[in-house]
Amino acid sequence: MSDTIFDKIIRREIPADIVYEDNDVLAFRDIHPQAPVHVLFIPKKSFATLNDVGEADAPLLGKLLLAAAAYAKREGFAEAGYRCVINCNKGGGQTVYHLHVHLLAGKQMPERMA
Ligand code: 5GP
Repeated sequence: MSDTIFDKIIRREIPADIVYEDNDVLAFRDIHPQAPVHVLFIPKKSFATLNDVGEADAPLLGKLLLAAAAYAKREGFAEAGYRCVINCNKGGGQTVYHLHVHLLAGKQMPERMA
């Protein structure tokens, strides 16, 4: 498994604006926000892409999404709405090969995804 910038953030080797952490999940603000709220939720365990997650790690995927939803509720925009996105591989627009969920909020998202 190759080391990515997100592994360095987990190990606190490079700074990030961390907004949430538990035993399995770390969340921090995206360095190039695409919306007023743009937070990345990552598992501390490394998976390059969504394709690399096996059945045994299904609960971890659930935790990632639930951490994002809990953040939205805490921050008060859950009812207004938000978008969660996982990009997978080059065709999906993935640039950092450590699985992550983008949480985007604070503006009206286009109804069409692409
Ligand atoms: P992807 O394109 O892989 O789905 O998303 C990677 C995201 O990571 C991009 O939105 C990019 O702005 C963000 N990113 C890349 N490097 C860093 C970094 O060093 N710190 C933070 N906070 N975000 C980063």
